[in-house]
Amino acid sequence: DNYLFSRLTAYAKAHPDKPFAEQPDAPSQSYGATLHNALRLAAVLTEAGLNPGDRVAVQVDKSLTAIELYLATVAAGGIFLPLNTAYTASELAYFLDDAAPSIVVCDPDRESEITPLANTARLFTLDKRGHGTLTAALTDMIITPVPRSADDLAAILYTSGTTGRSKGAMLSHDNLYSNSAALKDHWRFTENDVLIHALPIFHTHGLFVATNIALISGATLNFMNGFSAEQIIAALPTSTCLMGVPTFYTRLLQDPRLTPELCANMRLFVSGSAPMLVDTHEQWQARTGHRILERYGMTETNMNTSNPYDGERRAGTVGMPLPGVELRIMEAESEVEQGEIGTIEVRGPNVFKGYWQMPEKTAEELRPDGWFITGDLGQIDADGYVSIVGRGKDLIITGGFNVYPKELESLIDDIDGVLESAVIGVAHPDFGEAVVAVVVPSNPALSAEAVQAVAAEKLAKFKQPKHVLLLSELPRNTMGKVQKKALRDTYANLFT
Ligand code: ATP
Ligand code: MG
Repeated sequence: DNYLFSRLTAYAKAHPDKPFAEQPDAPSQSYGATLHNALRLAAVLTEAGLNPGDRVAVQVDKSLTAIELYLATVAAGGIFLPLNTAYTASELAYFLDDAAPSIVVCDPDRESEITPLANTARLFTLDKRGHGTLTAALTDMIITPVPRSADDLAAILYTSGTTGRSKGAMLSHDNLYSNSAALKDHWRFTENDVLIHALPIFHTHGLFVATNIALISGATLNFMNGFSAEQIIAALPTSTCLMGVPTFYTRLLQDPRLTPELCANMRLFVSGSAPMLVDTHEQWQARTGHRILERYGMTETNMNTSNPYDGERRAGTVGMPLPGVELRIMEAESEVEQGEIGTIEVRGPNVFKGYWQMPEKTAEELRPDGWFITGDLGQIDADGYVSIVGRGKDLIITGGFNVYPKELESLIDDIDGVLESAVIGVAHPDFGEAVVAVVVPSNPALSAEAVQAVAAEKLAKFKQPKHVLLLSELPRNTMGKVQKKALRDTYANLFT
């Protein structure tokens, strides 16, 4: 038995005619066709020499064929290794050397650039329409899925690189299955659901959360190549669920067509991958009548916490640990008092097997008893809701005092005329680090002095920004994550 493949495709086997995906500019595709295509692609991979445990590195545009390639890799006993489409050749060189895949699949336009980087791997091409040497090699041949157990690796997913160099998280068959099963139940997915899928599929959110849940529940995907407000607005009346990053929601809010009537068929809006502003939650409820359900996860752990489906969805929090997941807040090797801030640790069947070829990093972050030190700072309120205060690496230590960026950001975001903000630490000759606030005004009349004045009124001196910068937008990656490292690099010499 192939642990993950048999579970992800059980519905497809039983209901081959059910639509798996509807697409704006292409015909709909059934579950049966998806399963059959995956098994044919698996035969191509096996013919090309893929052995169980080999990596299949994939840097391609989003397409249903790319989803089938993920399933095919799992069926063939391989390890799926998707790569961000934005990576340049020199970045790819690192990932391909690190992962040492036996098969590489890339966009036809990049073939000549990637050929020398692929080393001894067999190279195939695949474009966003599903054309390329990979699909040209398809025959009628299919394989019998290669036996794999719950603990065998199914994927290596590189982290987003927000805090440093991306690390390859080794994810087992059961890491992926157990989390999808928990989320399917928690978020009440059934075969009646129609899920708008506009996320990239090189990241855990679009690849595992959205796709695996749909597969195991028999839902239909409204499959889009990327975020398009136009396409999502068109799909809302016939869909039931949207999974997005916060920027999806802020962009949709700018569209006057967003109304309760437009969302009448929808039952669930999920947000994650980056913090959502309380203001966005409130505006969304006012405009649609729906309360966004925010959850928290990461490449290494899949999803850890979720706001409740039935109970109160509390803005500014990420809810409670999912069934089967344990979460604790630690400071200096012991658990903090209830309500205090500390480092979030998680344990459960969702937690990865370690970083690919980084035994030391793995030993630093994954305790022998299974607790994973996430690097995120958080706290748990009296009702058990977890909130993320920021990243440990973003913590500012100024003159010996800890400053949690989130506290200032929340205060600044509440000022009239402020759209959003990011608070960072910048090297300073006297203080070690100085607090710097990067602020995006919503009103051009906003001044740095006005921000300083509020901080001076509300905050202890050491927390007040030494400098306030006004910018037209914050640097973000494709998942909507604010790139504080980029901000720190840009303003590294502000005080020196
Ligand atoms: P790297 O580990 O390489 O620095 P990364 O942590 O950004 O990059 P991901 O695994 O894609 O890579 O992102 C996980 C992180 O995203 C979490 O550790 C957390 O900081 C953040 N995150 C995810 N969901 C939420 C959320 N709902 N609210 C706040 N932060 C979130
Ligand atoms: Mg991380």
